[in-house]
Amino acid sequence: MELNRRNFVKLLVGGVVGIQLTPLPWKLTDDTAIWTQNWPWVPVPPAGAFSSVNSVCRLCPGGCGIEVRKVDQRAVKIEGRTDYPVNPGGICPVGMGGLQLLYDEDVRFTRPMKRVGPRGAGQFQDISWDEALSVLSARISTLRDQGKAAALAAVDGHFTGSSMSALIERLMKAIGSPNHVRVPSMEDTYSMTSMLMLGSQGPMAYDLENADYVLSFGSGLLEGWGGPGRVIDAWRILREKALKGKAKVVQIESRASNTASKADQWVAVRPGTEAALALGIAHILIKEGLFHTKFIQGHTFGFEDWRSSDGRNHMGFKTLVMDQYGPAQVEQITGLKDSEIVSLALGFAKAKAPVALSGKGKGTLNGSLYEFMSIMALNALSGNINQPGGVVVSEPLPLDKLPEFELDAVASKSITTPRLDGAGGAAYPFSKGLIDNLATAVNASSVSPVDTLLVFSSNPAFTLPDGRNFYKALKKIPFIVSFSPFRDETANMADLVLPDHTYLEKMDDVVWPAALQYPLYGLSQPVAHPLYDTRHSGEFILQLAAKMGGAVKDSFPWESYEEVLKTRARGLFESGPGLVRYDGKVPVWESVGKNIPVKADYKNFDEMWKGLKSNGLWFRPSHSFGNWEKLFKTPTGKFEFYSTQVELAVYKSKGKASGESALEKMAVQARGDEALMPHYEKPVAQDPTKVYPLRLVPYEMINLASSWIPSPPFLQKTWFNNQLRKNESFAEINPKTASEYGLKEGDRVQIKSPSGEVGARLTLFEGAMPGFVYMPLGLGHTAYDEFLKGKGVNPNRIVHAGRDPLSGHPVWWNTPIRITKV
Ligand code: SF4
Repeated sequence: MELNRRNFVKLLVGGVVGIQLTPLPWKLTDDTAIWTQNWPWVPVPPAGAFSSVNSVCRLCPGGCGIEVRKVDQRAVKIEGRTDYPVNPGGICPVGMGGLQLLYDEDVRFTRPMKRVGPRGAGQFQDISWDEALSVLSARISTLRDQGKAAALAAVDGHFTGSSMSALIERLMKAIGSPNHVRVPSMEDTYSMTSMLMLGSQGPMAYDLENADYVLSFGSGLLEGWGGPGRVIDAWRILREKALKGKAKVVQIESRASNTASKADQWVAVRPGTEAALALGIAHILIKEGLFHTKFIQGHTFGFEDWRSSDGRNHMGFKTLVMDQYGPAQVEQITGLKDSEIVSLALGFAKAKAPVALSGKGKGTLNGSLYEFMSIMALNALSGNINQPGGVVVSEPLPLDKLPEFELDAVASKSITTPRLDGAGGAAYPFSKGLIDNLATAVNASSVSPVDTLLVFSSNPAFTLPDGRNFYKALKKIPFIVSFSPFRDETANMADLVLPDHTYLEKMDDVVWPAALQYPLYGLSQPVAHPLYDTRHSGEFILQLAAKMGGAVKDSFPWESYEEVLKTRARGLFESGPGLVRYDGKVPVWESVGKNIPVKADYKNFDEMWKGLKSNGLWFRPSHSFGNWEKLFKTPTGKFEFYSTQVELAVYKSKGKASGESALEKMAVQARGDEALMPHYEKPVAQDPTKVYPLRLVPYEMINLASSWIPSPPFLQKTWFNNQLRKNESFAEINPKTASEYGLKEGDRVQIKSPSGEVGARLTLFEGAMPGFVYMPLGLGHTAYDEFLKGKGVNPNRIVHAGRDPLSGHPVWWNTPIRITKV
């Protein structure tokens, strides 16, 4: 086949259809090919030699193996690798479009620049890397000289546990600032749930492929949750089993998403009431004695009522659930009939390997902590914790820590300054970073407490569900440095733009792909020489530290970023045998629990490193299931229904009054023992009011990027006419609700919340829950190129978040709104 532009796009999209990795209707394939005839930056390979390079996609935490085909030096196609265990042969639409993010100069920054126009206007002037280094190091040195090192803050969007995150954290510490803030995601809520109930610092993982009953509380299995390359393949396996009556997927979600529509059963509950449903199911399991007695009696804490050493009687989880979450009570909260709750519980109990999943949509944004804990309690009742087909509990990936280093006097003094976001403090004892609070701290002060903000791999001005709180803060911060490769909304506000390479031009890691049930370390490698005058942010940090000199310089004893990666990877070698090759013959999920000893396919560290670099992976296809005696690292050594860590945080100082005040600070409504166990907390804005009678729920799509990565332009042709038409976004509304308000299909409306308003058209959708309005995340950019800028609206602009109790993260799934026809 002649490889012209049209065939190139057909090949990309056709590849997806062929491997059935997505249920999306790709009927517009040919249109897309025709439509792209005029794109100057779609690869037009000259005659030349074909070759391919293996790498790892880093556009999401899914960590798929990719093969990039090249003609001479030009990358022309991205495919999924069959010799990579995560995503057997498949990739998602965003991953397929990655080349467009490499070649499109309108989407990327091509060299370092400084701002010359008004902030936000996107007017920049080229500068050299040397000048950029001098400007930034001088600014930070001045802050340190003035004793204001803590006025440096960093927003970090790199993947959890990544080497880049470790390096950024180290830089901030060496300078003397505690204000390293990660962009929130589902991982934050997972990590808190895991730590409180399992005592685990390891990743939250699910053995989906071996499950036979998947009870998903809003996890978008077909929308991009948990690493689409792997999860959609798991979906295929579950479908095959379902056809033989051996598996079932139940989707609990208020909207008929793609996942809900294709699941065996769709159960619609009011958004934000999922915890109550999980506890309602728990009620039936306990009432009917349908729980795993051995696990509950032998390996859990706080199930039955109990008495503490100080002689106080405590309510157990069983009493809580039996008293407060009967089917009739849960029906009131969720809107689900009591018979349906009973039927869900019986289905879950009957299964041999049931698993309950938490995590809304793709998991790009955080979840609700008590909700996740309630869902985890269901897994505990089924005994499917660290069992095949259930929740997999592991130690973190055995990477070496970067060596300790000495702080100089300046850093030692300022590092103890309280964090601006309050994370880890009395109100948010379990959160590691709360970016929204950082923005609020800036907005609440007459002079911004942040002088200089470094922004890595993130676009908080667009992605945060905060009603533009962060965007407003950016206007007040004196100096902003963006390391984004992309011309995104946050970068446009920057004073200094120091563009990173794109993921196809650099080496970097993916530490344990999201939700995967076995340890895997992915390593991308450059598939092309950097096209422009960009620089790896890891290299820049090393150069910045060197330029600053003294103890800061001494804290970074590496010549290159690759050396940093290598330092950490040594821990993999020392942890025992692993593999750096995968032949694709036996899927790892089939063998992972069989306790087959792993024989390393390398003899020494250098061999391992070489294999890791060329194949992009190190993994250990084995897991020790069961092991309940030693599994839980909670203070009680058991799975905790009653969290002794929350208890400690709440009752640090003695007395009922101090406990109540601590709970109030944490925005927890419950009191006493209930507050320390999984329970349902009614969202503050749950009930309709006269002014705001409806509720807005943003949703995510697999073919629309909603994180800091822009959507590759070719995805645009896969969006439906009632999602985006020309420049207008659509909001979904149930026909019944529309008729109550005298609205019809296609009407133009203003959607107003306490945080602002946006315009959209309406589309009537039977799959939308009455009383709720649904809008996709990922549209409404004010930056990037002609394919994204000005297309639709971003619902984050009007999200009126509120705080999730205990975690302090935003509640973004329940914004009060009203709509008016215009
Ligand atoms: S699922 Fe994530 S890692 Fe895999 S191809 Fe898509 S964007 Fe890349």
